[in-house]
Amino acid sequence: MFAPRRISSARILLVLVAGLLLAAPAPQAQPRRTGSANHVVVISLDGFGGWALDDPYLPVATLRRLAAAGAVAKAMRPVDPTVTWANHTSMVTGVPPARHGVIFNGLLIRDAGVPPRVEPWRDKNELVHARTLYDAARERGLTTAQVDWVAIQNAPTITWEFPERPDPKGVIAQETVKAGILSQADLEAFQTKNILWRDHIWTQAAAHILRHHRPNLLLFHLLNLDSTQHRYGPRTPASMDAMAHLDSQVTTIVTTLEKSGLLANTTLFVVSDHGFKTVKRQIRPNVVFAKAGLITVDSGKITGARVYSVPEGGTDGILEGRMFAAAQDSHIVDPEPNETVELSLEAVAISNRRIGTEVRTRVEARLGSQL
Ligand SMILES: [Zn+2]
Repeated sequence: MFAPRRISSARILLVLVAGLLLAAPAPQAQPRRTGSANHVVVISLDGFGGWALDDPYLPVATLRRLAAAGAVAKAMRPVDPTVTWANHTSMVTGVPPARHGVIFNGLLIRDAGVPPRVEPWRDKNELVHARTLYDAARERGLTTAQVDWVAIQNAPTITWEFPERPDPKGVIAQETVKAGILSQADLEAFQTKNILWRDHIWTQAAAHILRHHRPNLLLFHLLNLDSTQHRYGPRTPASMDAMAHLDSQVTTIVTTLEKSGLLANTTLFVVSDHGFKTVKRQIRPNVVFAKAGLITVDSGKITGARVYSVPEGGTDGILEGRMFAAAQDSHIVDPEPNETVELSLEAVAISNRRIGTEVRTRVEARLGSQL
């Protein structure tokens, strides 16, 4: 068995088509302006490793056409921790997780008596502690939109949205129903549908927003490739098929820009947040903690924890339980000699400064293993 993990050495595809980058100087330095005819569209293909473009037999004709006509970044180094929300938030803030505070795919919640957990459906203002591109755009009087972007729930500076979990009563959601993109019943059961279909609807919703609202900034994120690689692994026929399908979704956006007369004034970025590597071994520090008596388990349920490991994206944050007063420094776990681990001082700094958690130690598995 293998399971894919995210890897911190992905390359990014960045395509510049036309128009001007939405620069964001200090708001007081520029007069507020409205009605700008310039547009920026950011398309994030989750989990699209840059290696894919080195394979001439991957059929992604639109991406190659855009790359040939624009500019392509040779490589990127994703942020640490290399998880989806941390990377996306760095893309729109320009600062690392140590400053914006998003180090999980959600907000770390620590309640007394239960292990810490990560909750994704928390408001952007709770999660993101840095000024974002869409904040800056709105300050300049520009309009903003997001489709399936992350760490952005109830962001007050987003003008139009079709979120990862659309509100059936939302303005854009209702417009998409009226436009025949999906039925009201499917909208209300959106989360239960397969990720390929949801990617399709998100693409149609993004096209709808471009056509009918013409935002100055659109942030658009697609998830199927990430899901496919988690399930089937990278460099598999399934993952390459998902990449080819993503190309068709990018085509839809480009065609919409062309037909709407927006393309000439649009800067299009196609980006990704991380790649994938195959792993063959799972490391579970909580098992070691339980054996050491630091976590107590009754009938398969955790009843107490003096330390607790929260895995995320191939790394682990080791947390002290709030309910347990005894200060017990966590320690690096090495269940297999020579198999782990690396202490990340940055993670400790992140936790202490930004989100007030008590991450004492972070362990990181070597390639080939996953925490
Ligand atoms: Zn991702």
